[in-house]
Amino acid sequence: MIELDALTKRYGGTVAVDGLTFTVKPGRVTGFLGPNGAGKSTTMRMIVGLDRPTSGAATVNGRPYAALRSPLRHVGAMLDASQLHKGRSGYAHLHALAETHRIPRSRITEVLDLVGMSTAARRRAGGYSLGMSQRLGIAAALLGDPEVVILDEPVNGLDPDGVLWIRTLLRDLADEGRTVLVSSHLMSEMAVTAEHLLIIGRGRLLADTGVDELIDRV
Ligand code: ADP
Ligand code: ADP
Repeated sequence: MIELDALTKRYGGTVAVDGLTFTVKPGRVTGFLGPNGAGKSTTMRMIVGLDRPTSGAATVNGRPYAALRSPLRHVGAMLDASQLHKGRSGYAHLHALAETHRIPRSRITEVLDLVGMSTAARRRAGGYSLGMSQRLGIAAALLGDPEVVILDEPVNGLDPDGVLWIRTLLRDLADEGRTVLVSSHLMSEMAVTAEHLLIIGRGRLLADTGVDELIDRV
């Protein structure tokens, strides 16, 4: 579970995130929908402690990220798949993460298999397509077998097969009882991927609604 309480972020005169209060519940896919610049990435970064709120708070499973023991076992995030070191293999990326967080090596093989990167992970990340980088980012997010999974625009740049694959993966994660928060600027995509929607614009919450209820209203 993720809980936001009046979460706010200002950059100088810009209010990137403006008093967001909501709960992301386990067992369903929640779409975080809004146009580019709405504040989705900034919100996600604050949830996982990569950015400090100007005011307000975000908690994961009842604690601020910084207070979680074994954070990767609570929450896994893919925030920017382009941050791969070109010269290192996909496997090496996951291995470094596993070492730091004391995650057994057998889990690397498991997540690579889950994202269909078992073979490609031996090659250097510099040669990966965007889709492969996204898959590796998702593998990293799932490495700690976290209850909460956060993915920032995972569908961006994927071919139709990749889009379908992500949709199925997210459903499976939710069916296992995990909390799944996935951002997108595409209403059409979120309408079929998510069961619940948090819609934001200019840093503010515009709607917190089930997809079916929303479709009934329009
Ligand atoms: P989204 O993910 O919805 O596209 P972002 O969270 O990336 O939106 O950005 C929200 C707003 O905050 C935008 O106006 C963006 O320009 C601004 N912003 C994001 N990061 C920074 C930063 N590091 N410094 C200054 N402004 C930023
Ligand atoms: P446990 O909660 O005891 O790990 P699970 O049924 O959740 O039991 O998982 C069984 C095994 O499969 C574990 O090693 C777990 O890490 C892995 N696993 C299950 N679901 C996923 C998933 N969606 N992504 C990655 N690994 C998973």
